[in-house]
Amino acid sequence: MEVCKGSECLRVELVAFSLPRDGDVDGLVAESGAISHAPEFRTLNEERKRHLIELLRKLGHESVFEHACFTFRVEGISRVCTHQLVRHRLASYTQQSQRYVKLRNPKYIVPESIMDSEFRDEYMELLERASDLYRRMVESGVRKEDARFILPQGIETKIVITMNARELRHFIKLRCDKSAQWEIRNLAKRMLELAHEVAPLLFEDLYNEFIVNERDRAKSL
Ligand SMILES: Cc1cc2nc3c(=O)[nH]c(=O)nc-3n(C[C@H](O)[C@H](O)[C@H](O)COP(=O)(O)OP(=O)(O)OC[C@H]3O[C@@H](n4cnc5c(N)ncnc54)[C@H](O)[C@@H]3O)c2cc1C
Repeated sequence: MEVCKGSECLRVELVAFSLPRDGDVDGLVAESGAISHAPEFRTLNEERKRHLIELLRKLGHESVFEHACFTFRVEGISRVCTHQLVRHRLASYTQQSQRYVKLRNPKYIVPESIMDSEFRDEYMELLERASDLYRRMVESGVRKEDARFILPQGIETKIVITMNARELRHFIKLRCDKSAQWEIRNLAKRMLELAHEVAPLLFEDLYNEFIVNERDRAKSL
């Protein structure tokens, strides 16, 4: 059995995104939006792109953001977290199956609050016992799809997520917020950082709100 404290094992990779021929993801959205008021398609400079993307956001003309898609590969998160994640319906998911994959050395995500508490040893003991019973049941012929019922929700999982920029922005707004649970919040923040690297204008406002401002606030404490 392996244990990860909080999000220490979280690994998020942006494995694909809509790559226009000119390599400009911001331009894909801004120039698509521009056609609704222009006689011809045209290439916009940086300033026009920023202005247009801000305008689209302000007017709620958000369907234009759907032209850009992002695919993330995520590991080191719990099933508690993916249960919340997959409530976001306008996305595509592929998750590691507990029906087909035998968990040889189960990994668990354990909240910091528990790792640092008086319950730590008792908690670890239960994880060990659940893992051991799972292993013995599978070895004795119980189907994996049945044996998995004993596994705690904190078990680590792997998932691929594809969202378009509209849904990704919506997801980030809800899940980077302070009211969101810590694990999905850490996931959403990492997804925001990665999306911002390839499409800075599309995510500029959210990046400033949830990454820059929070970093500044933390520094000032
Ligand atoms: C802080 C927090 C606490 C939460 N607590 C709970 C809880 O206690 N219990 C619980 O069950 N859930 C809870 N949720 C989950 C929440 O209710 C939503 O299911 C989840 O956040 C997905 O949001 P969504 O429906 O807006 O997004 P998505 O499914 O990502 O959809 C995006 C948008 O598309 C539109 N849309 C999608 N599907 C439909 C539809 N069928 N009809 C009309 N419009 C649609 C809506 O505008 C929606 O906002 C919580 C979420 C957060 C962020």
